[in-house]
Amino acid sequence: MKLFDVYPLNNITPVKAKDCILWDENGTEYLDFYGGHAVISIGHSHPHYVKAIQEQIQKIGFYSNSVQNPIQEQLAENLTRISGYNDYKLFLCNSGAEANENALKLASFHTGKDHIIAFKGAFHGRTSGAVALTDNPKIVAPFNAKHSVSFVEYDLEEIQKIIHEKEVAAVIYEPIQGVGGIILPTDEFVQKLREICTANNVVLIADEVQSGYGRTGKFFAHQHSNIQADIITIAKGMGNGLPIGGILISPEFQASHGLLGTTFGGNHLACAAANAVLEVIEQENLIQKADEMGYYISRALNRYQRIKEIRGRGLMIGIEFEFPVDELRKNLLHKHRIFVGNAKSNIIRLLPPLTMNKAFADKFLQALEEEIVSHS
Ligand code: PMP
Repeated sequence: MKLFDVYPLNNITPVKAKDCILWDENGTEYLDFYGGHAVISIGHSHPHYVKAIQEQIQKIGFYSNSVQNPIQEQLAENLTRISGYNDYKLFLCNSGAEANENALKLASFHTGKDHIIAFKGAFHGRTSGAVALTDNPKIVAPFNAKHSVSFVEYDLEEIQKIIHEKEVAAVIYEPIQGVGGIILPTDEFVQKLREICTANNVVLIADEVQSGYGRTGKFFAHQHSNIQADIITIAKGMGNGLPIGGILISPEFQASHGLLGTTFGGNHLACAAANAVLEVIEQENLIQKADEMGYYISRALNRYQRIKEIRGRGLMIGIEFEFPVDELRKNLLHKHRIFVGNAKSNIIRLLPPLTMNKAFADKFLQALEEEIVSHS
């Protein structure tokens, strides 16, 4: 059997990784400024993380959600402390798309309404419901998607109009749009959006799948805007590579048996990994480090004229160029051996592990400079 041809592949086979470095089967070294798409939060193969997983799998890796699981409770406790969401509840699942699907279900169940507002440029995943909320012209929302979706530009009047015309259960937004090209709404916009949702019994869902977990210099990116969301969805950096996702749920929401559920969600092994991730984030002060390194890199990028704009926060950085970046990205990978992400045709996305340091950052900056100069 062949693999279904889903992903455009780089001709590289990583077989080993440590902190911000990957090695291929020939021992060639690659610098990771992509984090496997914002997944590697505490660096590859962190010793504390590896030890926690090894110890857990030797004890018990999985049993169904029909039994008590203190490792889940520990995770809820850790998340409470580090996120500041004190009285929220946690539901655990396996991916970002699944977290969003469950957030939508909860919002519909809670409000008795079923329209959802999503934003232009949004990416929320590739399951039926999440795809319907994803503004990607390559993906056609399946016609049986459960929710009707309105896409709006960042325009509060438009949102208010839709809320008054339709039975809107939720607004879902990325505090920083990732796949859309590192786009930030203003804090005022987010605060007003919060007010509109509260006034109209509309659930505000913050999709922190990419922007969460300390990457932006706060645990959640929406916390820069000084608001609380009703539901927060998380995944990617949560497991540092082990599949795990979750949703933080406002205490106003009622649980209902049968509404949410998953076989693998919250399994012992994934939860042990997720606990180790939070322990490392706290012990190594990675949220503050992400903030500082992000500032260091963004400030250094300011000196290049061929860069149109640098956007983002902490270690979630978008570099918009005046020219298409496909060749630049390929050169970074194959000539300089640095993984970066991209978005649209002219944006490079940086989503490195939060353990990124100055020496690696300088290596990236030097490579980028060389490429920009040779492009001029
Ligand atoms: N939401 C956002 C903001 C994302 O960036 C992604 C993944 N790129 C998802 C949801 C979907 O996550 P997953 O691939 O784990 O389903």
